[in-house]
Amino acid sequence: LVSRKNQKADTIVTLGDITVGGGKPVLIAGPCSVESYEQVRQVAAALKQAGVTVMRGGAFKPRTSPYDFQGLGIEGLKILKEVASEFGLKTISEIVDPAHIELASEYIDVIQIGARNMQNFELLKAAGQVRTPILLKRGLAATIEEFLHAAEYILAGGNTQVMLIERGIRTYEKATRNTLDISAVPILKQESHLPVLVDVTHSTGRKDIFAPCAKAALAAGADGIMVEVHPDPATALSDAAQQLNIEEFHRFHTELQI
Ligand code: PEP
Ligand code: MN
Repeated sequence: LVSRKNQKADTIVTLGDITVGGGKPVLIAGPCSVESYEQVRQVAAALKQAGVTVMRGGAFKPRTSPYDFQGLGIEGLKILKEVASEFGLKTISEIVDPAHIELASEYIDVIQIGARNMQNFELLKAAGQVRTPILLKRGLAATIEEFLHAAEYILAGGNTQVMLIERGIRTYEKATRNTLDISAVPILKQESHLPVLVDVTHSTGRKDIFAPCAKAALAAGADGIMVEVHPDPATALSDAAQQLNIEEFHRFHTELQI
């Protein structure tokens, strides 16, 4: 079902009056984690000012260490909903438990399935059972074939509103957090009709190269870019080193011209 052979036309994912795929690229920005109402509000105000209409923010955080901040859970989704309705934004947040998939649509517009859960087949099946758009991240060491098979699980369940996002893969290279696989963009676009996005934050882990990497992604045909933004990155409860502050976000956005 995900194959271009099966469907020639690009899938267009609709979020109200915003469309992803087959047209103008979309910018998704927001904090790594939802930390407080005020923190999310500050980011939302900056997005609104920039004309960016889709905000991300993690409420269920799949952290490598059990001692790291695990997210605010449902409380975080409530904060996203409240702020989004105040600023007229669409929201994306990660869901990690199949039992939360149905409930999520009460709070958020797009369900993210994270890299660590790309092959959580019960989660993928649950995502296939709803009609909420899904943003599926490429696994930490997933091949393109495995990535497309994971998306297939969701479509096989009946949910056609699926977006793919390249977020870097593990290699021996240490200069970046992961290795951004730019070639995945044109390959996924050729193999599949689903929208393809690139997360410059988790792939590179380096703010100093977000802009050139985002430009490369767009040049390669990406339908959108994801970037993390925090009002005060130094105090962030997750990914402190690789979130843009508000001023850096405005500069990034201007440079990108999307
Ligand atoms: C995220 O986007 O918040 C995240 C945890 O990313 P990934 O699943 O790509 O590591
Ligand atoms: Mn993050």
